[in-house]
Amino acid sequence: MQTKLYIVVPCYEEVLLITANLFLEELNDLISKNKISDESRILYVDDGSRDTTWELIQDFAKRDEHFCGISLSRNRGHQNAILAGLMEAKDRADITISIDCDGQDDIKAMEQMIDEYRNGAEIVYGVRSVRKKDSLFKRFTAEVFYGLMNDMGAEVIYNHADYRLVSAKVLKEFANFREVNLFLRGMFPLVGFKSTSVYYERRERLAGKSHYPLRKMLALAFDGITSLSIRPIRIITSLGVVVAIVSFILVIWSIVRELTGGTVPGWASMTCIISFLGGVQLICMGVLGEYIGKIYMEVKGRPRYIVSERTGDKETANKVDEAETNKNKEIIQ
Ligand code: UDP
Ligand code: MG
Repeated sequence: MQTKLYIVVPCYEEVLLITANLFLEELNDLISKNKISDESRILYVDDGSRDTTWELIQDFAKRDEHFCGISLSRNRGHQNAILAGLMEAKDRADITISIDCDGQDDIKAMEQMIDEYRNGAEIVYGVRSVRKKDSLFKRFTAEVFYGLMNDMGAEVIYNHADYRLVSAKVLKEFANFREVNLFLRGMFPLVGFKSTSVYYERRERLAGKSHYPLRKMLALAFDGITSLSIRPIRIITSLGVVVAIVSFILVIWSIVRELTGGTVPGWASMTCIISFLGGVQLICMGVLGEYIGKIYMEVKGRPRYIVSERTGDKETANKVDEAETNKNKEIIQ
C-alpha cells in the first residue's frame, strides 16, 4: 500500500495564492514518482485570517481534489494552526509534512524527507543549512534565539523551525500531550522515536511580509523556555546561594571594620541584615519556584512513557486481518 501524505500549511495571508501551484506541482510530481499515493492532500489551515484566504482555499478545493482545508474560528497563531492541521490529518494520513505558506522553505526537500521516512525515520526535521537570504538582523536574532533556548535547557534542533515530516504513529502519541502553551519544535523531540534531519536552503518570502517580528520571536523563545524547562528557577536558587555566601563574607568584613573602629554607628548591622535577608529570600524563592515548577510539569499531564513497538505486532495485525477475511467470507456465503 502506498504512503498517504498530508502537507499541512498554516495560512494567515493571501500569499498562498502564489505558492499553491508550486505545492500542487510538487505533490503531483511525488505521486508520479510513486513515492506517495494519489490520495495525498495539501491541507490548508486558515488561521482566522481577515483577508480572502478562506475563500481562496475553498476555491482551490473545488478546482482540484488534492486541495482541502480547515478554517479556525479566530486567529490562534502559527503553532496552534499547525497543531490543528496535524490533528486533522492524523487519522487520514500515513505521514504529514508541515510547511509555511510563503515559499520560504524549499519544497524540494520533501522528497528527501519521504525517503528518510522510508528508511525508517518517524520524524524528519527540516534544517536550514544557510540563511543567505535572511537579513543580517534576522540571522543574528535567530542565532541568539537558538543559543538562548539551549542555554536555558529547552533542547531544540539548531536552525529547525516547523518544516518537518511526522508519521501518523508519532502524531497519535503526540495527541496525548495536552499542554496549551505550544512550542512544537521543542515538543516533538520529547515524543522520541527514530528521527533524522534533512538540510535545505532557506529562501526569501515570495510575497507579503513576515508575521514574526522580533517581539513575537522573543515571546516564542520565552514560551519555549518556560514550557520545556525549569532552568530559570534553578538560576534563581543558585543566585540566592551566591548572594548568601557573599553576605556571609560581608558580615565578617563589617564585624572586622566595626572592631577596628572605621565605621559610623549602625552601618555594620544594616549591611549584614540587608545582604543576609537578600540571600535568604532568593533561596526561599528558588525553593518555592522548584515546587511550582514541579506542579507546572504535573499539570501538563504529559505521557510518562511511550511504547514504540511490541513483539508480535505484525502477527497480531495478520491475525486481525485473517479474522476480518473469515468474517467477510461468512457473510458472502
Ligand atoms: N501564520 C499563521 N498564523 C499567524 C501568523 C503566521 O498561521 O498568526 C503562518 C503564516 O501564514 C506562515 C507561517 O505561519 O505560513 C510563518 O509565518 P511568517 O512567514 O510570517 O514567519 P517567518 O517565516 O518570518 O518566521
Ligand atoms: Mg516566513
